Amino acid sequence: MDFTLQKRRRTIAPKVEGLDRYPCEMQLYDDIPAFSISITELEQATAERLRVLQTLEEVQNRGMKVGSEQWRLAVKDELIKLNMRSAFKLYSATSLGNELDDFKVRQRDHVSHFMLRVSYAETEEKRRWFISREVELFRFRWMFLPESKRMAFLEQNKINFKRADEEQKRAAVKISNGRVTMGQEYSLIPFVCVADLVRARKVFLHKGVAYVANDDIISVLMATYRSNLSQALAYISRRLHILDNEPRLQILVRGAGKNSRDVDYTNFVNKDKIDIRQLDTLAEMSYPLCMRQLHQRLRSAHHLKHFGRQQYGLFLKGIGVSLEDALLFWRSEFTKGMDPDKFERSYAYNVRHMYGREGKRANYAPQNCMKIISAPFAPGQFHGCPFKTLDPPGLTKALQGNGLSVLAQHEVVDLAKKGHFQLACSAFFSHTHKGSEQILIGHPNQYFDESQRIFTGKIVKKEERKTASKLAVPAAPADKTAKTTGKTAEWEDMDIDFANVDM
Ligand code: SF4
Repeated sequence: MDFTLQKRRRTIAPKVEGLDRYPCEMQLYDDIPAFSISITELEQATAERLRVLQTLEEVQNRGMKVGSEQWRLAVKDELIKLNMRSAFKLYSATSLGNELDDFKVRQRDHVSHFMLRVSYAETEEKRRWFISREVELFRFRWMFLPESKRMAFLEQNKINFKRADEEQKRAAVKISNGRVTMGQEYSLIPFVCVADLVRARKVFLHKGVAYVANDDIISVLMATYRSNLSQALAYISRRLHILDNEPRLQILVRGAGKNSRDVDYTNFVNKDKIDIRQLDTLAEMSYPLCMRQLHQRLRSAHHLKHFGRQQYGLFLKGIGVSLEDALLFWRSEFTKGMDPDKFERSYAYNVRHMYGREGKRANYAPQNCMKIISAPFAPGQFHGCPFKTLDPPGLTKALQGNGLSVLAQHEVVDLAKKGHFQLACSAFFSHTHKGSEQILIGHPNQYFDESQRIFTGKIVKKEERKTASKLAVPAAPADKTAKTTGKTAEWEDMDIDFANVDM
């Protein structure tokens, strides 16, 4: 038998129509996706992307520097653990083995980005979160891209940086004190476009032009991507009302942004009611530092400014304080320093508003760490995250007052100084809950719930010993005595515009 005559069969992968639409594993998402996709697939792709973005946030919260090798490996490990095989292959610029699968995964990447773009355009806080995570994802993916694909990506997206020729390099070598070498390729970019590289002294500057090495081009791309994304989200946010006429689309978009790990602290149906007479004990045992600070301030000054009332009031709502009790609590403190009528006129409305009984009757959620950390802050105020707002001596004093050892104080202050506020809070939790497992704090109410889970038995015993209430609790339910006042109209939109609110 003559085998030489037998021809080897070659499988030729069919050319997938539209594959040229995604020539590279990465994209800048300049075009709106215009293709059909089943709703199930759309939901799956979006949920998967959201999980990836959450993973990036989790890894960053462990204190790793975005863009470091340690960070890249940690994100990679997490994605593998989550079994996101095809997404990870795309992110690591690895083919799935055939054109059709590669094409589909790029389509899912495209459409999931846009779904979340719309879903996260609604509020400033959401926009900021989405942009930060997407820029991190962009960086993560760039780290896997080989040099040839990076060049192709720049070319496909018409990003042409002027290259330094040999003569320019030779001239720069002489005057750059070793910052420019002949062996490297450099792009010549106006210094205003590479502010972070200039700040980090990573580039040589000459006559307003920065010599950016190939490895640092990602900084320029990230800055451009961030700015484009920010503009796109702002544009979408102004047009979200269009969705009001498309209820099906609205459900999809809202569902897409649902963070599967977020606990809904606005639903209190199954929450145990908290007795306001326990608040001092609870503050001491289970409040995060931000709420301890507000509680102590309220007890000592019998007043909190607007943002403090919002932050603490919604937290109390989230731990299970009813509206009636909240009114009793705030009234009992405020009326130690003001006329009861003034409280009814100027503050009771605010409390009822938080519980959705006034204004547009929205069920306001307790603020999460991200919102608290990014809240505007001025000296003399007590809201915000103390790991951010207190200076190191102030924070050390607060930690000392909460019983932390000198070593623990150093650890927490060190984290706060580096800007890892939630990590500092997590360390504070570990030191005040000896023997507890490490948890990452993302919400003050999560802190409270975790703490209660650990301390539940102890609280009951401690409260049993407390016979006398520290609160002078008036007998009449506040709702019956409260009057809405002229201030009511001004506060109708207080959830949107705080400009006229008593500070
Ligand atoms: S990290 Fe969050 S829970 Fe902790 S103090 Fe700051 S805002 Fe409060």
